[in-house]
Amino acid sequence: MGSITFDAEDRWNAFITLCREADHGDGPLAGVLVAVKDNISTAGVQTTCGSRILQGYIPPYDAHVVELLKAAGAAIVGKTNMDEFGMGTTTESSAFGPTTNPVDTARVPGGSSGGSAAAVAAGMVPMALGTDTGGSIRCPAAFCGIVGLKPTYGRVSRYGLIAYANSLEGIGPMARNVADVSSLFSVIAGPDARDATSIDRPYSHTPSSDGIAGLRIGVPAEFFGAGVDPGVAEKVRSAIDSLADLGAEIVECSMPSMAFALAAYYVTCTSEASSNLARFDGIRYGPDIESKRSWHDAYQEHRREHFGKEVRRRIMLGTFALSAGYYGKYYAKAQAARKSVGEDFARLFADVDVIAGPTMPTTAFALGEKTADPLSMYLADILTVPANLAGVPAISVPCGSVDGLPVGLQLIGRHCEEERIIDTAYAYE
Ligand code: GLN
Repeated sequence: MGSITFDAEDRWNAFITLCREADHGDGPLAGVLVAVKDNISTAGVQTTCGSRILQGYIPPYDAHVVELLKAAGAAIVGKTNMDEFGMGTTTESSAFGPTTNPVDTARVPGGSSGGSAAAVAAGMVPMALGTDTGGSIRCPAAFCGIVGLKPTYGRVSRYGLIAYANSLEGIGPMARNVADVSSLFSVIAGPDARDATSIDRPYSHTPSSDGIAGLRIGVPAEFFGAGVDPGVAEKVRSAIDSLADLGAEIVECSMPSMAFALAAYYVTCTSEASSNLARFDGIRYGPDIESKRSWHDAYQEHRREHFGKEVRRRIMLGTFALSAGYYGKYYAKAQAARKSVGEDFARLFADVDVIAGPTMPTTAFALGEKTADPLSMYLADILTVPANLAGVPAISVPCGSVDGLPVGLQLIGRHCEEERIIDTAYAYE
């Protein structure tokens, strides 16, 4: 046991809360500085989800992953900035101001785990936890030039993760290299009786490049479709060529469900969000409200004042999608589309071991570039949401840059085959 003083200067607004004195124990991560996204509960340390509605909220308990980090000896040095409740692709929807990209501070770090990615990319910490509902680990990893893994749904417990869209989301590791992502993953993966969707698949694996010879890598044409920047496409193609040089077999293939994956994602995540966020009523958490004429007024005013614009937009979209009479038109259709994404993956994975493509269609946006046009921001998630809809693991690993901005190669695997995508990323790196 010991304690460390964390004196790094946060010039990127990567953290919402800094723990300048952090305890650590013995274990595989003894004394390693780890940053934790601010939607993951930390006993005694403010946890805001990037929202005013939770400002000042101090959880009375640790999330399962935080218990595991502590048991592994890690020093948790702070809570990282994020899009409010994870809703965004840039970290600009945080109530605590945007995080900037350490590679180019005029650019966004990606989101929603932008604070975690920036803290790692800036060298403040070697590793961090993020969460990924529709790309929120992989997008900022790609934009900041680091490695990020979205695990198989259920392989890491969500106990203590403040829910945004529970059927899609999960906690995962972010670090500067594949080996560190792998060691952080081995600490957090495994069963937990307090999460009903938890699966009993611990991870203890040392990355190796041995399996790359003969590996079949599928490349869906849709991953290089309209909207993918030609410079990004070229970098990712040449990364895939290098995997072929290492002995992998490249299989050109197709994923027709990509045509409705994004729509399925946004109907599902807004529906779940509208229900999950109903608990923020002004009574149980967050800033005090003055007494109002009625419970109804108090509830309405509290939510109007303390939820940001993007959160209010999504609650309204989700409430609409779930309302009587529209269920079949939107939610039921989204679930059918979601099923076809899973079927596409099942068909492809009967033939190939890994699916490869870009993580993001472009490099990091300029700060403010997408804030006035939410739809164009949503479109940027097209390549990351399929893995969430199907619950399969996916990793983003840096593969060069365009005009000085990092590009991410995305590798998607079968359920519980993190080992294989980690090894593929390791062989490439
Ligand atoms: N950008 C996506 C969204 O806004 C993904 C967010 C996430 O993975 N938390 O929903």
